[in-house]
This record gives sequence, C-alpha cells and structure tokens, in this order.
Amino acid sequence: MANSFLLFISNLLFSMDIDFDDFFEDSMKIGQIIGIVFAVITVLIIVMVIVSAIKAKNKTSGYIKNIKDKMVEKIEEQKTKDICEYCGSKLKPEENRCPNCGAQRKK
Ligand SMILES: [Zn+2]
Repeated sequence: MANSFLLFISNLLFSMDIDFDDFFEDSMKIGQIIGIVFAVITVLIIVMVIVSAIKAKNKTSGYIKNIKDKMVEKIEEQKTKDICEYCGSKLKPEENRCPNCGAQRKK
C-alpha cells in the first residue's frame, strides 16, 4: 500500500516534471512569438519612417520645383520686359523708352 502510494507520488512528480517542461517549452514559444511580433512591428515602423521620409522629400522637391518655376517665370518676364516689343532692341533697366525706335517700354 505504502509502495503504491510512493509510486503514485513519484508518477505524479514525474508527470508534473513533464508539465514543467511543456510549460518552459510553451514560454519559449511565447517568447519567440513575442520576438517575431516585435521584429514585425520594428520592420513596419522602419517601413513607415522610410515611406514618410520619401513622401516628405517628394513634397519638398515639389515645393522647390514650384519656387524654381516661379523664379524662371519671373526671369523670363524680366527678359521680355528688357526687350523692345517693337524692334527687339535690348533695353536697360532704367530706360523707359527704346533707344532704337523710341517706343514706350512694355509695363
Ligand atoms: Zn524699339
């Protein structure tokens, strides 16, 4: 009777041991899953940062292009203002009349 009780206890401890092994194995699996989840989140954050950086760069280069276009437009406008619209002579900035044909400077 006492022997079978001890056998029962040792069997119980043995089965508990196996349970503990499973528990540790499970917690290792959980740790791996948490690690994978964190890795995925990290990758997603990196991708989001890269995407937002690219978007910001495109926005900035669009803004710069806009300014450049406006400057080019201004320069072109200034160039046409510096040329007499009647004879095509170059006008100096301070001249109000064309030195060649006497036409009024285009405003
Ligand atoms: Zn002229």
